[in-house]
Amino acid sequence: MRKSIGFFGGTFDPIHLGHLRLALELKQQLALDEMRLLPCYIPPHRASPSVDAQQRLAMLQLALNDCAELHWDARELQREKPSYTYDTLCELRAEFGADVSLSWCMGMDSFATLDSWHRWQELIGLAHLVVVARPGWKIPMTGPVADLIAQHRADVSCIRAEAAGKLVILEQRLLPISATEIRAQIQANESPQFLVPDAVWNYIRAHGLYR
Ligand code: ATP
Repeated sequence: MRKSIGFFGGTFDPIHLGHLRLALELKQQLALDEMRLLPCYIPPHRASPSVDAQQRLAMLQLALNDCAELHWDARELQREKPSYTYDTLCELRAEFGADVSLSWCMGMDSFATLDSWHRWQELIGLAHLVVVARPGWKIPMTGPVADLIAQHRADVSCIRAEAAGKLVILEQRLLPISATEIRAQIQANESPQFLVPDAVWNYIRAHGLYR
């Protein structure tokens, strides 16, 4: 049977239970053999993260310590240049070969801006795109991203059937947790305990992050 691997990218600044829970649910719902979280180095579409790349990676590793189902992948940090999804997918495709099913997962907020991404029209040829609806974000109905949806939308069975080329939109319950709010809480001297894994909160305190 065709092997299938999912990738969930983000700044993870910091990683929180919303990210982790979604990654796990996606792995289960898509019946993936493997699910990897990929922190990006310098995200091209947003302000640079407020802590350095190695600290974001350390928090991700701590968060995944007790979870055999999810893995981390530091390739975008090692590249030490802007993280273009196109480059990452080319690298992954070269590594895994043409037959393995690759799924690039993202929230609707990220997907809505897809047409501003580097070589965005070529992404779907390299992997399936899996988009999770987020509260407040609607599926684009007009424009180039809407055209992409119309051409490539499929249901989850495509993930095993093909190696790339389909777009899956999922309505997932998302935990109402935001990294922006967590950073604001810490800055306001409030505790984000129970929104992030305890090991991550301990790391944030030990290193005085987000103050
Ligand atoms: P910020 O609040 O700083 O924008 P973020 O968590 O939205 O942080 P990222 O770390 O880049 O930003 O998010 C990575 C991915 O996780 C994105 O695709 C985003 O849609 C998704 N995501 C963010 N918050 C949640 C959540 N609570 N539940 C599920 N997915 C989330």
